[in-house]
Formats: sequence, structure tokens, C-alpha cells
Amino acid sequence: MRWTQTLIPTLKETPAEAEITSHKLLLRAGLVRKLAGGLYTFLPLGLRALRKVERIVREEMNRAGALELLMPAMQPPEIWERSGRYVTASEVFFKVRDRARKEWILGPTHEEVITTLVAGEINSYRQLPKNFYQIQTKFRDEIRPRFGLMRAKEFIMKDAYSFDATDELAQVSYQKMYDAYARIFQRCGLKAIAVEADTGVIGGKFSHEFMVPAETGENEVAYCESGQYAANIEKAASKGSLIPTPNLSTGGNPEEFATPGVVTIEALGAAPYGVAAHQQIKTLVYVVDSKIVLILMRGDDQLNEVKFMAKAGATQVRPAGVEECFGALGAKPGSLGAVKSTMTGDKIQIFADESLRGAKGMTTGANKDGFHLRHVEIDRDIEVTQWFDLRTVKAGELCVATGQPLKIGRAIEVGHIFKLGTKYSEKLNAMFLDESGKQQPAVMGCYGIGVTRTLQAIIEQSNDKDGIIWPLSVAPYAVCLTPLSIVAGSPVMALAEKIYAELEAQGVDVILDDRDERPGVKFKDSELIGFPIRVGIGEKSLAKGEVELKLRGGVLTPVKVEEAVAKVLELVKGTA
Ligand code: ATP
Ligand code: MG
Repeated sequence: MRWTQTLIPTLKETPAEAEITSHKLLLRAGLVRKLAGGLYTFLPLGLRALRKVERIVREEMNRAGALELLMPAMQPPEIWERSGRYVTASEVFFKVRDRARKEWILGPTHEEVITTLVAGEINSYRQLPKNFYQIQTKFRDEIRPRFGLMRAKEFIMKDAYSFDATDELAQVSYQKMYDAYARIFQRCGLKAIAVEADTGVIGGKFSHEFMVPAETGENEVAYCESGQYAANIEKAASKGSLIPTPNLSTGGNPEEFATPGVVTIEALGAAPYGVAAHQQIKTLVYVVDSKIVLILMRGDDQLNEVKFMAKAGATQVRPAGVEECFGALGAKPGSLGAVKSTMTGDKIQIFADESLRGAKGMTTGANKDGFHLRHVEIDRDIEVTQWFDLRTVKAGELCVATGQPLKIGRAIEVGHIFKLGTKYSEKLNAMFLDESGKQQPAVMGCYGIGVTRTLQAIIEQSNDKDGIIWPLSVAPYAVCLTPLSIVAGSPVMALAEKIYAELEAQGVDVILDDRDERPGVKFKDSELIGFPIRVGIGEKSLAKGEVELKLRGGVLTPVKVEEAVAKVLELVKGTA
């Protein structure tokens, strides 16, 4: 490609709309342009890189035996009603209406569509296993679209869905995808780690997210440096807090004391009360699937809502409002508690975090504004309905696998694999006849990669002050040829044209910077865009029979004119 014939609108200034490095570079390098919040046009260079990521994904999915198909983006709401997700997933739906005013959903994901297809087309164990995938645009009405392609309203996903005859075979399919994902991200030049992820009510270890460590990531990951344990913070466990829970019994019953104006853990910890956070029981009022419940945590712990939803099998949870708290317990947040003698009215379910087991000598709200209770013994004074591990782990706590201190870091989720079981096949009737002639629901798995997010994650992980550093495998062009003079017929341009033609003939992705620009501008742009290999051709070096070869981020190396093409080919083929 000749630079002057394509469109590469590089920018000197950083657009104000971009907050994170990769978003700035996407815009500055002329890879994408914003149409509206969360909606982007891929310009020619951006599209080339995107297609390369897609190709890697496609090759590895095919290699793993998955079958490519393409489903409609527009979906009938009826299939979502049948799966039971019409209400629970409705927050993310973009809905459209046709001329008959009938509603349609722009697909945020395709479990319902693929399961409907399989229900119609597969009926015997002999046709299993099957794994279908597509690379397609998804639509999600995100609460906060941001960071460019990272969280968009419209984005490209590779989604795959496996169907197996038994649970054991489904695990084989899962493992194949796990391995394929590891290869995909490695080939994209990404350092991605697989972490255990929340599995909702299904439970077990059968969900992994592929995470790219990055300061700007929206996820937090707890990991052990041994490499033996890594989990999304939403799921992570540890051996518990480093501060033991008090179990000092005073023998006395709960005793009320006045705490005027004290409504926070910190205020109760300060003078004149001095009750340390870990000696307090924090009482959270939640609305869980439209029922009020209490959740008890140690004062120095944070409730992990995702863990709670998974453990309690809840589909919708939210903190109760002040009015709802008052209605349930007769006091406002800050003075709430779960001690039997202070609870009146209907019985409310009480869920407590494991770290409170056996706690004695605790302080909690008295269900009376401006008062707390001390000498609380949880087993004696509170009727806990169920105990769960509900706390968010903290850095430094000990790893459940190795006993070493856990670290916590931020990361970008680029992929997610999930064992679904028979939830969708049962609801959407994807049944097959097993060997003994019995009807069985197919055991499913689903596997997503955010293709556009992956592209941006590569940039987020691989850049320097001058711009992007593309891994060769996904660079928009592998080679940038930079003649310092473009006068037609001049020795410099003649050589540039010759090398260009030879590289093109060899199938190398090469761009010839034939712009009438100063060398400085050309070099800056090629660094900004981040072509892996640059060949500079100028009068001075040519006089010595040389061209200047530069790897992105590396130093200039003179190469003999006659050896230039061979050298570039070696580099592109990875044999240098
Ligand atoms: P997130 O927690 O980031 O919202 P998710 O759990 O909703 O992701 P999945 O439904 O598992 O994501 O989708 C599969 C993949 O699609 C994700 O791993 C991510 O890489 C990508 N993805 C999800 N939402 C978006 C989005 N709004 N913009 C770009 N990519 C996305
Ligand atoms: Mg999401």
C-alpha cells in the first residue's frame, strides 16, 4: 500500500475524549474514529489489525474443531422469554420495532439463538459433540461505555457454544477451548492469564476469565506469585483476614450504650468509643429478589455482592434504601443490628460471613438511632440463617493453595469461558437421544472473546512514549518503507520502489511512505503507528550502499542494499 493512497489521519495532539493510553493511541495513530459514545468506525489501518486478530481467533477455533457459522444479530424476544432471561438481561438490550410495532432485540449474546438452532437440527448422540462459533457484532446498552473499544455499545465478539452428550465430555470441550484461548492470546503477543471466575449459581471451577494485567483494567485479580492460584476478586478466597476475630466472652449480655451521631465504622472506632473495626458487626440490609434480608460482615470487611449472589442463588440484589431499612428494623443505617432482642416484626433471613463464626465481645447497632450494643456473642445473640464466605479478599492474605501472601492487581478481561450445564438446553429444548434411546438435554459450554477489546488490550500492553509497539502477528503492516526523498526517478525513490515491489511479491504486508513530508514527520508517524520494521532509505546511507533498518523500539542498523529484502524477509518470517 502507498501511504498517499490510503487514509491514515494521525494526530499530534491527544484528543480530550481519551482517558487511557490505548484509547489515545487508537485515535492518534488513525486506527479508529468515534461516531458517538461507544460507537467507532475502524479506519483502514485499524481494520487491518482487527482482521489479523480475527484470523488468529478463527485459525485456533478451527484447529480446536469448532465450526464457524453466522447467526442473525437481530433476535426475537420470545426465545429470551423461554430461557427466562428476558427480564434479567433486559438492562443491556437495545430493542427495535418493526413496521408492525413488533419488538426485536439486537443480540448482546447468542445462547438463545444457538440453542434454538441445535434444538431443531441435532437429535442423536451420534451428532455430538459439536462446537459452533461466530465472529460477529454484539450490542449492549452498557451503563458506562468508555475507554474506546474497551467498553463499547457495539463491539465484535467471537462467541462459541459447545454441546456434549455428558458432563465429562463437556469438560473435554471446555479444556479444548481453554487451551485454544491460551494459544490465541499468546499469538496476539498478549500476556494473558487465566483466572477463576464467578460461576453464578452453577458453582464449581468451570469458569475462567482471560485477563491482561493493566493498571487501567476494570477488573481486579487476586493471585499467588507461585502461579498456582489466580481468581477474579469477585470469586477469590483466602485463608481469611490477617486480624483474628475476637472471641473474648465477658459473660455479660448485650449492653446498650449511647452513641449519638455515630453512623460509621470509623466513628465508632474513634474516641471516646475506640471499638476497632474488626470488633464490630456491620449489618447490611439488602433487597434480594424483592425480599429484604440482612447480611452481617466484620466491620473491617467488604461484602462481595457477586459472591453473595452466587452463594444465595439470587438473580437480583441491591442495597436497601433508608426507608426500607427503617421499615425492616426500625432504625436508620448506622444503628442497625441483628441481635434477637432488638428485632421485632416479621422474621428476616440473616446471612453471615464465615469470619464471624464464634465471634464474642462484638459491638453492633441496637436498632435504635444513636445506640449500639456491646458484649455481643454471635452464636448466642443472633439467629443466623446461613453462613457463607462473603468477604472480599485483601492483598497480603494467605493463598488457599500455597499459604503465600496474595497479590491484587488490575486487569482487562479479554475472554471468558464458562460451563453452562443444561440450563439453556432444558429451557429451549435442545434434547438428543442417548445410546439407550433416552431423551437427554445437551450439556453446554459458552466461550467468548472480545475481539475489539483484545485489539485495544494489545495496544494497552505494548506501547512506549512514541506510540504503539505492534507485535508482528497483528501489526497493520509489518514493514514501513521510508524514502527520505520522493522525487520520481531519484536513486532513493527508485530503490524504495524496487524494495516495495519485491516485498509485495513475497507477500509481505508493506506500506510505502510516499508522502512529501519531512523525514522527521515520517519517522514520528511510523513510530506512533508502531510498524514493527522500518526501512529508511536516504541519500547519505545510499552513498555507502546501505539502507537503515530499524525495529520498533530498537536501534538503527545499516544493512547492505542487496541484503535488505532478504533481511526483512527473515525478520517477518521470524527466522532472523
Ligand atoms: P464485562 O464484565 O467486561 O462487562 P462480560 O462478562 O459482560 O464482560 P461476556 O458476556 O463474557 O462479557 O462477553 C465476552 C467478552 O466480550 C468479554 O470477555 C469481553 O472481552 C467482551 N466484551 C463484553 N462486553 C463488552 C463491551 N461492552 N465492549 C467491548 N467488549 C466487550
Ligand atoms: Mg458486561
